[in-house]
Amino acid sequence: MRLHLPVIGQVAPPVMGGALPLDPLVDLFARHVRYLRVSVTDRCNYRCSYCMPEALGTSIEFQPRAALLSFEEIERVVRLFAGLGVRKIRLTGGEPMVRAEIGALVRRVAAIPGIEQVVMTTNGHLVAEHARALVAAGLTGLNISIDTLDPDRFRELTGRGDLARVQAGIAAARAAGLPVQLNTVALRGVNDGELVALARYAWLHGATPRFIEHMPMSAGQLYAADAEISSASIRQILEAELGPLTVAASARRDPGPARHWTTSSGREVGIISAMTDHFCAACNRLRLTATGDLHACLGHDDAVSLRDVLRGGGSDDDLTRAIAASVTGKREGHTFERSGTGGPRKHMIGMGG
Ligand code: SAM
Ligand code: SF4
Repeated sequence: MRLHLPVIGQVAPPVMGGALPLDPLVDLFARHVRYLRVSVTDRCNYRCSYCMPEALGTSIEFQPRAALLSFEEIERVVRLFAGLGVRKIRLTGGEPMVRAEIGALVRRVAAIPGIEQVVMTTNGHLVAEHARALVAAGLTGLNISIDTLDPDRFRELTGRGDLARVQAGIAAARAAGLPVQLNTVALRGVNDGELVALARYAWLHGATPRFIEHMPMSAGQLYAADAEISSASIRQILEAELGPLTVAASARRDPGPARHWTTSSGREVGIISAMTDHFCAACNRLRLTATGDLHACLGHDDAVSLRDVLRGGGSDDDLTRAIAASVTGKREGHTFERSGTGGPRKHMIGMGG
């Protein structure tokens, strides 16, 4: 198997010239984009089995550094998005903390007028070193991925991971005052017996646990259908030990992709059901890859290249038109292809989750 990272779907040529739409961030289904996820690198210090397994070895082709958007380019794009109404930026990857000077990028993005939240999704390996500086730079929240509490299983799942480091990172993030959510991909036969323990671990450390359905990215190459646990089953597993879950008040305020639930003792848990219970009608996000491709949906390969506009000397109006083309092309919803014969072909490591 040969993976080129990131494989991009049909990247449309940027749109130059023509009238500017009234609100470039409203799509054909009246959804307003208010949230931009920015992947800052396609590289990672881990090799998770469902994302970029070690077995791929030297067949992984990373993008050359010059192909990645520079901090100046990212800042320009985010400034434009902020002017159009985006309020929340999530930095992701690959592993965002392996990009050199990531704190400097956080500082730039956090200083942009209109941006209210700058959050990051990380595997946690480098959090202990960076947490304080990132908070000082303006980071407002952290999602840390942790799929198991068993050190050997953790190593096996992540290829190169170190559970103790991630746990130290969770403690450091909380000590630095960051709100923390812990992301777990629920995998049958791997960690389904640990979901309750992971939830309790998160609560004990002042974090919110979130369980994610396994998704067939990479044209299904890294997907095992029998490992997927539906959100309904995740809920059943949790309820069997924790009692009935009710819809959390935060879910009513912020209808994001994670459905948030509360236990009878008031503990909150999120379940992200991209596979079995779509949240597309409330989708308010776009995704920018490290190479500047703007994707309107995780489940489709379509993209518009903002890098071509940036590097082709495009004006802010040209960029806005390219963004509007992406938003207009945002599909009503997604269906992931479980058979491995269809889309999306793109990789999670290129998209950042
Ligand atoms: N490296 C960082 C991390 O692991 O948190 C950020 C990037 S990673 C692609 C973002 C999230 O996507 C992680 O929580 C990871 O577990 C999740 N993820 C990766 N591949 C997935 C898949 N096939 N299905 C569901 N979630 C996946
Ligand atoms: Fe790296 Fe995150 Fe993918 Fe794991 S899930 S390989 S940590 S990008």
